Parts: sequence; structure tokens; C-alpha cells
Amino acid sequence: MLKSTLLKGGIMLTLFSSLLAIPVSPIVQAADANCPNGYVALTFDDGPSPGNTTNLLNALKQAGLRATLFNIGRNAQNHPALVRDQVAAGMWIGNHSFTHPNMTSMNSAQMASEITQTQQTIQSITGSAPKLFRPPYGATNGTLRSVISQNGLTEVLWNVDSLDWNGASTAQIAAAANRLQNGDVMLLHEQFQNTIRAIPQIAQNLKNRGLCAGMISPATGRAVAPDGGSSNPPGTATRIEAEQMTKSGTYASNISSPFSGVALYANGDSVKFTQYFGLGTHNFSLRGASNNANMARVDLRIGGQLKGTFYFGGSSPAVYTLNNVSHGTGNQEIELIVTADNGTWDAYLDYMEIH
Ligand code: ZN
Repeated sequence: MLKSTLLKGGIMLTLFSSLLAIPVSPIVQAADANCPNGYVALTFDDGPSPGNTTNLLNALKQAGLRATLFNIGRNAQNHPALVRDQVAAGMWIGNHSFTHPNMTSMNSAQMASEITQTQQTIQSITGSAPKLFRPPYGATNGTLRSVISQNGLTEVLWNVDSLDWNGASTAQIAAAANRLQNGDVMLLHEQFQNTIRAIPQIAQNLKNRGLCAGMISPATGRAVAPDGGSSNPPGTATRIEAEQMTKSGTYASNISSPFSGVALYANGDSVKFTQYFGLGTHNFSLRGASNNANMARVDLRIGGQLKGTFYFGGSSPAVYTLNNVSHGTGNQEIELIVTADNGTWDAYLDYMEIH
């Protein structure tokens, strides 16, 4: 018994040290000779939905197109697997509010709620929060624009409207793509069959005119060349397995499912470790899950100070990242602690990466 525990500990220690430094490939951006006249952005709103998203992704993949998908947060929460399919297909994900209201009739607190619920939901599913926001119906005002920018988002409207929402035919939707010029953004929706049918013609149209489908720059809200689809900054990451951290609190304990890790069951349950920092800003990613469909929350404390909260929106493991966290340098105690448990969920932690 003792011997096998020691052996297991030795293996875990070896595994632990081999995971400490994980190189991340730098982003390479090359000019594309197929795109002499530049880039345009195709955008599809209102997903994800079971009857439509898979058809849209198949049509885009078959046409060799990448697009920005402005998701409704509530739909994303109900269909997280479809959001993961969107990312796996090479699409960029934007925020299109949580419930698709006309936000110009809301106060700023209501606006912020629509935006942050969607940010948290998409971050918990994909590991990164959107940088682009499109207001439902394109309805915006000064209050909304300031709430959008307070949340670190860029408002994206459009230059070319396919009018698919107004009953445009497949031929009319395809013809609208004729108006796209370098940098332009086109409005489309995932729930119309005519839109899906127009995708091969849109692809051919762009190719004929030396244009390519690009991403939307968060800096300008205009179409630019894709950055390779990676949002990881170049550099290295340090990974620390939760089961290697020091447990405290009444109920914190190791688990072996859905991954080898630690479960935090009640307020005050935590895991801690000490990390040396040469610099005072890092991104902290935590892979974890809730034990059920309720949102599990785990606070990040560094040197005893609250730095942010990780959210896990369901029982599928996901990576949640807190970017640009400022903290002290030298040896710092890092603690992951449950403080908002209301008895309806438990938090499962797999590992933390610092990069
Ligand atoms: Zn919409």
C-alpha cells in the first residue's frame, strides 16, 4: 500500500515537472497572393441553433470560407457543443447579446447584463471571451456604445446588408456580395435556407474579384487578414495540476472524473500553491467544470487579493482565462477558492496555466 503510493507519487512528480514549460508557437501572418484586392468579413447572426448551425458550418467549410458568427448568449448556453463546432470549423465568435432585445430601450445596467452574461457563457465554453459586439437589429445609442467599450468590446455593424432577414431570394443575397469592397462587413443570418444556398455563389464572387474572407479587427471593426485563428500570445505557459496544489477547507478533495483533479464543494474550500513571478502581469487559465448545469464560480486570489472569477457553465470541462491580471512579483501565494456557493453546484478543477 505504502510502496504503491510512493511509486504513484514518483510518477506524478515526473509528469508534473515535464508539464512545467509548454512552448506555444508564435503566430505567423503571411500575405496571401489569392487576395490581391483585400479582405471582407462575412457575418452570420443569431446562432447557434440545432437546425441551422451545422448546415451553415458545412456550407462554409465546403466553400473554403471563414466567417464571424455573432452568437446569442442564451443560445450558446443551451447548445455549447455547437459553439465548440463553430470554433473547430475556424470561425470567429462575436457577442450578439444574451436574449436579443432592442437594447436602446434598456438602461445601462440592463445593457451590461446582456453583454456580460454572453461574455461569460462564451468564455466558459470556448476559453476566450469575444472582442466584438453586434447589437440586435443594429439598434444602438450613446449609452450602449459606452457600455460596449466599458466591457472591452468593439461595436460592429455592417456596410452591406444581404436583406436575408427581409425575405431576399438566394440570387438577391448572392448579388448583394457584389457590393463588398476591401474592409467591408456583410450582414447575414444562419436561420434562412436562402442564405445557406447563397454561400457557394458568394465564395465564387469573392474569388473572381480577388477578395478573401477575413476576420474583423477589434481595433477598427473592419475586415482584415486572418491572424491564423490563434489568440494565444507567443511565449511559454506554466501548467500546475490541481491535484498537486495544497487543499484546504472542509470538503476539498481529489477526484478522478471527469478528469484527475480536485473538487471544491462548499464556501471556503480552496487549493493553493506558491509561484515565483519575475513580471507583474500574466494571463491565468483554469480548466474546470461544474458538476451539473448550474454555473460554478471559483475566485482567483493572488497574495490574498481577489483578482477575478473563473466561471464554468456546465459539466463539460472548459478552459476559462482571465487576461492581463496584475499581481505582485517574487514568490506569491495563488489560491483558487469558492466563495459564492449557494448549494446548487460543485466546482471541479483540472489544472491552471499561467502565460
Ligand atoms: Zn440578430
